Amino acid sequence: MVLAELGQRISSALVSLNAAPVVDEAVLDACLKEIATALLQADVNVRLVANLRNNVKKRVNMEALASGLNKQKVIEKAVFDELCSMLDGGDPKKTELRKGKTNIVMFVGLQGAGKTTTCTKYAYLWKKKGYKPCMVCADTFRAGAFDQLKQNATKAQIPFYGSYTETDPAIIAQQGVERFKKEGRDLIIVDTSGRHKQEEALFEEMRQVAAAVNPNHVIFVMDGSIGQAAFDQAKAFHESVDVGQVIITKLDGHAKGGGALSAVAATRSPITFIGTGEHMHEFEPFETQKFVGRLLG
Ligand code: GDP
Repeated sequence: MVLAELGQRISSALVSLNAAPVVDEAVLDACLKEIATALLQADVNVRLVANLRNNVKKRVNMEALASGLNKQKVIEKAVFDELCSMLDGGDPKKTELRKGKTNIVMFVGLQGAGKTTTCTKYAYLWKKKGYKPCMVCADTFRAGAFDQLKQNATKAQIPFYGSYTETDPAIIAQQGVERFKKEGRDLIIVDTSGRHKQEEALFEEMRQVAAAVNPNHVIFVMDGSIGQAAFDQAKAFHESVDVGQVIITKLDGHAKGGGALSAVAATRSPITFIGTGEHMHEFEPFETQKFVGRLLG
């Protein structure tokens, strides 16, 4: 089920409240059941769905609602607020860059998630805002990773660092960061390697790279279409390195909505940007209310 379809199903469940002659407990239950089914089918984590259902029920006290009140509106607002709070990843200030200081930002995620593409988009965005970004390729696992980063960085006219001979990603990361610090770059982006699946070797490598560069921010990049695996994957990265924000990619395609919600819950970190295409400019700041509003149509 794609994102738009999820929104449509939630909306139509809410609209069905209008059709009921009296909105009572049973009608509310049926509506919430339909919303829960839609969320589960969009790969939202089971526990999150149960929480949403309980919280809406707690907030909407049917007996206390005055008969004149538009109950549909009250329920709709409760569902909207609960979806927003599912996406609340805490204090957004924690994700901000420090002007005039060196910002070291490490990107992590599985192979194919869109890390290298997203590093370039991120660098390009901050370059337009007056920062001096640069990119370090600490991916020695995938052949061709450095060439890809080099190609992207060159296109965006962003300085880069990497090695064809050094095999230890922590050493490359450290060397790259040192070099760019000396050059006075204020935004040093460290791209790391991925694997096809979560595995201990990858997490150990992430810990080593993090220890080598001491990042101010760790960004977890997640493919928006990965489904139910999102919660565990995000949690595993969060437990290895100090993930402070999430970027969801490929929301232009047939992405399910659930992954985004689950990643926030698993990392307790906000989504800061979303990727909406392969090109450098196809990158948007994430706005919770707008996202949920769009979801509900
Ligand atoms: P990495 O292995 O995590 O570094 O992933 P890459 O940056 O190489 O991206 C994997 C593929 O996903 C590439 O073909 C990218 O062009 C594509 N990609 C990345 N972000 C997006 C996005 O937001 N939308 C779309 N449609 N494709 C994307």
